[in-house]
Amino acid sequence: MPSLDEYRKKRDFAKTAEPEGETRESGQRRFVVQKHQARTLHYDFRLEHGGVLVSWAVPKGPPEATSQRRLAIQTEDHPIDYIDFEGEIAEGEYGAGTVEIWDSGHYEERMWTEKEIKLTLHGQRLEGNYVLIHTDANRWLFIKEREG
Ligand code: MN
Repeated sequence: MPSLDEYRKKRDFAKTAEPEGETRESGQRRFVVQKHQARTLHYDFRLEHGGVLVSWAVPKGPPEATSQRRLAIQTEDHPIDYIDFEGEIAEGEYGAGTVEIWDSGHYEERMWTEKEIKLTLHGQRLEGNYVLIHTDANRWLFIKEREG
């Protein structure tokens, strides 16, 4: 099972409203996109997988058209309970700012390797086939696939 050590190390749960959470396999395949107005605006894309939310920060937001290739930086795994987190992260805390759910839904996993993740997303905004391609270190490309 993946670990939440890095997630916990970065946060003081006496000071942040974020959930401490724990790893747990829910058997569901949900995703969320959280618009995070921190020091710089970005969108956190999270997939429920292996007992945690596997997470990326997407500076320009997820691609909504097939012509867009968006940089996605993999970040620390988050607890499943984070999937419905919205609100303020206190000043001085990691990620201080405002979190708001931009999209949510479920997904089908078509491929999941170290190099490539293929998904079909069923959200309010994001719908259809997407691929994440691992380029180097924690950098991925997030692409919406052509229909048909
Ligand atoms: Mn963030």
